[in-house]
Amino acid sequence: MENYQAGGRRLPVVRLTPKGVRWQRTGHPWTYRNDLAEIPSLPSGELAAVLGPQEKFLGQAFYSTTSRIALRFVTYRDETVDALFWEERLKRAVAYRRRVVQDTDAYRLIYGEADGFAGLVVDHYAGHLAVQALHPALERRLPEIIELLVRYITPISITLRNDSEMRRLEGLPLEIKTVLGDLPDLVQVREGPVRLWVDIRAGQKTGLFLDQRENRLAAEAYGRGEVLDVFAYQGGFALHLAPKAERVTLVESSEAALRLAQENAGLNGFHNLEFVKAKAFSFLKKAVAEGRRFEVIVLDPPAFAKSRAERAGAIKGYQEINRRAFQLLNPGGTLITCSCSYNLSEPEFLDLVRTAAASAGRQARLIERRGAARDHPALLSLPESLYLKCLILEVE
Ligand code: SAH
Repeated sequence: MENYQAGGRRLPVVRLTPKGVRWQRTGHPWTYRNDLAEIPSLPSGELAAVLGPQEKFLGQAFYSTTSRIALRFVTYRDETVDALFWEERLKRAVAYRRRVVQDTDAYRLIYGEADGFAGLVVDHYAGHLAVQALHPALERRLPEIIELLVRYITPISITLRNDSEMRRLEGLPLEIKTVLGDLPDLVQVREGPVRLWVDIRAGQKTGLFLDQRENRLAAEAYGRGEVLDVFAYQGGFALHLAPKAERVTLVESSEAALRLAQENAGLNGFHNLEFVKAKAFSFLKKAVAEGRRFEVIVLDPPAFAKSRAERAGAIKGYQEINRRAFQLLNPGGTLITCSCSYNLSEPEFLDLVRTAAASAGRQARLIERRGAARDHPALLSLPESLYLKCLILEVE
């Protein structure tokens, strides 16, 4: 195997085609397999020196044998990728969170590429950490990363939430395991004025949809009258809207999520929440047929378009729920509508919400155009990380 001296170490070489180099110049931190000049005989998770034609050094990247994404760039410099390198990146991630995360003890500490940790996610819940290694290279370095986290965060516990489907694409096994300290069944966290129970072991994602935190806090201002929170999970939006609302109806299909939403209502002393276990589409259809009306509606569905192939169906689905919401809102009512499908851009989302309003015969004013919370910074060069859209609209 050919070697290249980078950062004082000999690294195996991976070469890009001229087209691969052009793509790499856009700054995108991933290289697809068909942009490799030849397939190297490297194991998954290996760090490689990436070269273009004429031996030009382009950077250092993690190699994968199984994923369509053959390379994930770690650095564009000729530097040593060792424990000290990761320590510097962790320090930067921690310092950044200190600046932008306020009024909560539940936030994302490390967000993959955006924090210089390709394939690693670390969420912080009141001193308990949930870690996801989404690439063989990170899987290999977990002991090193855990040691750093212990040193810088002194967590109460660390749990590997290695049950993401993304691991399958990398040929990694799925597992959930507490590797340090004791994790209670539920951990209590604070999000602004709201308290929440989090199930780090079995909750969706790593327990909470942390990317929506600032949008949930923004929603507080709009609470009034009858509120409908569709795709409610454990009551994220509902709990923030409840203090100023007469009643909040939560619609959620997961029994486990709804049970925790009830616990959360109790924890915050709210008695104006109503819990409906139902499929969103049938609930909305029935509510329209029954002539129900709301002052505020939240739509926060799971990603309908998980791939480009699912786009057409997804757009239809988003259109349907948004049209129904427009039909259900009182004059002057507020719609908080979200999409976390990265296969649907913000202009496309705006367009389909506009179409939904038109087909419900409503005019809407755009009040806020929001994205993921600041602890989930998006890399401009990685459009995949610009996935969350949250629009706040007011209907005439
Ligand atoms: N708004 C929540 C997060 C919602 S995530 C928060 O801020 O915490 C999407 C939720 O939709 C999940 O809880 C999932 O269980 C639920 N869900 C998925 N499909 C559904 C359907 N067809 N009907 C109702 N709920 C659904």
